[in-house]
Parts: sequence; structure tokens; C-alpha cells
Amino acid sequence: MNSSAVLSSLARRLEGKVAIVTGGASGIGESTARLFARQGAKVIIADIQDEMGQEVCREIVGDGGMASYVHCDVSSEADVQAAVETSLRSHARLDVMFNNAGTVGEYRSHLDFDRSDFEKVFAVNVIGVFLGIKHAGRAMASTGRGSIINTASIASVMGAMATIPYTASKHAVVGLTRDAAVELGHYGVRVNCVSPHLLASPLACRALGMDTRAMEDAAEKSSVLSAAALKAQDIAEAVLYLASDESRYVNGHNLVVDGGYTTTNPSLG
Ligand code: NAD
Repeated sequence: MNSSAVLSSLARRLEGKVAIVTGGASGIGESTARLFARQGAKVIIADIQDEMGQEVCREIVGDGGMASYVHCDVSSEADVQAAVETSLRSHARLDVMFNNAGTVGEYRSHLDFDRSDFEKVFAVNVIGVFLGIKHAGRAMASTGRGSIINTASIASVMGAMATIPYTASKHAVVGLTRDAAVELGHYGVRVNCVSPHLLASPLACRALGMDTRAMEDAAEKSSVLSAAALKAQDIAEAVLYLASDESRYVNGHNLVVDGGYTTTNPSLG
């Protein structure tokens, strides 16, 4: 290796680390999986959209990165446990767990929301994160290191931004994050979450019934930062910080990535 190759490999922020990305077949998870791989991580994409997830892995490998795919429904404890075991079996370690998979559910009133529809959103957004913390946490605690990052949302800090179970579930993600951060911090494992504002992903397009172009326009219009819509890459960069050793003293934090949206005075429009 020549000196510039050594320097560039030293500069990679996840060199030698192994990361699981749930919901890595699309949107924020996909962007993060690609960025993690460019930063030297061996990435395991865990998703239910098998063909899409496998294609993302093929592209990462084609670009010189390392990635593999596991089918994993995050609401299934057996699947989440198996994903973590895959990491330990294939790489003998797990350094980063990005609990990112999520779902939105239907827009309806509090007065007629169906209980089973509510539970479906909680099964993915809350139980899925709980299971990810539990099984990744077990694997990491025994090694005394690790970083777990959960995807919440600006719906974790305000109401009426999304569907009812979504808002409740993302508030719960912050609660899980804080609680786990205190317990797992004693084992050297950090737990943080990231809270994105609206961005044009398939999830958001489906939830709001918009195509990507209309969604990008909506994201740009709702942005405080002039002419700047939030992109999946912006979230990936925030997650990379939380995954890397540069954030070694950041624990239990909800990193809101919204361009200032939740800090604005609503009366200013
Ligand atoms: P997306 O639809 O592009 O990606 C979500 C991924 O999660 C998909 O690949 C999907 O197959 C996967 N997934 C869904 N249910 C799953 C399950 N049970 N098990 C495993 N994988 C599952 O959407 P996105 O916007 O990238 O969403 C990622 C996360 O970001 C979600 O937690 C979402 O709530 C959150 N978020 C999104 C926005 C936004 O505006 N797009 C804003 C705030 C937070």
C-alpha cells in the first residue's frame, strides 16, 4: 500500500467495523448502507424487500465495498436474532446496529382508528427497535463496545405531523433510546437516535399519496433552509457520525436533522 492509500484508508471512519442496517433496501437505510460501505464498514442489509436489498448489496460490492443481505422482518424476534447471529458467524463481530426500518400506517382520526392497524405500526416501529437493541445489545455488551442508532422522526418531538400510531411510535423510539443508553452505556455500548424531517422516500410518497417530484417540492417548501430539501444522504451523514468513534461521548441523544424546522416560531408561518 502506498502512502496515499494508507492515508485514505486511515481516513475511512468505519474501517474494519461491521454494521447491520435494517430497512437498508430503500431510502435512508439504503443511503446509509452505501455511505457506511464507502467508509470501510462491512454492511449487512436486513429488510423484507429481498430483491431490492440484494441489488443494493450487488451495487455496493460492484463499487468496491463489502455488503451482504439477510431477509429480516424486524417485528419478528427470530429474524432479528438471526440477523445478529449472521454478523457474528460471518464476521465474528457487530459494531453498529442501525434500527431504521419503519412504516407509517393510515391517516385517520383518533375517534375511529382501528386497534389492529395501530398495533401493526407499533410492531415495526417500536417492537422492531426494541428487538434490535436487545439482540445487538447482547452481542455488543460482551465486547464492551458498539453503537446502536435508531431512526425516530420529527414526529418524535411534535404532534400532528404524521399518522397517530406513527407519532406515538416515534416518541416511543426516543424513550427506548434514552432508557437503553443508560443501561448499555455501562457496557460501553452507546444508543442514540436520529430524527429526520420530511424527505422524498418511498415511505413518505406512499403515506402522503405523492410522486417523488411532488414530494421533493413539498419537502423543499417545508424547509426553513432556503431552497434546500432534506435528502436521505443528509440523514446518512448524521448516522455515520453517531456510528463512528468521533461521537464516542454522545449517548442517549436524539439528533434532530430538520434544518431548524422544529425550532421555528409557528406564528411566522
Ligand atoms: P423507505 O420506504 O424508503 O424505507 C423503509 C425500508 O424499511 C424499506 O426498505 C422497507 O422494506 C423496510 N421495512 C419496512 N417494514 C419492515 C420490516 N417489518 N422489517 C424490515 N424492513 C422493513 O422509507 P424511509 O423514509 O427511508 O424510512 C426509513 C426510516 O426513516 C423509517 O423509520 C421512517 O419512519 C423514518 N423517517 C422517514 C422520514 C421521511 O420523510 N421519509 C422522516 C422521518 C423519519
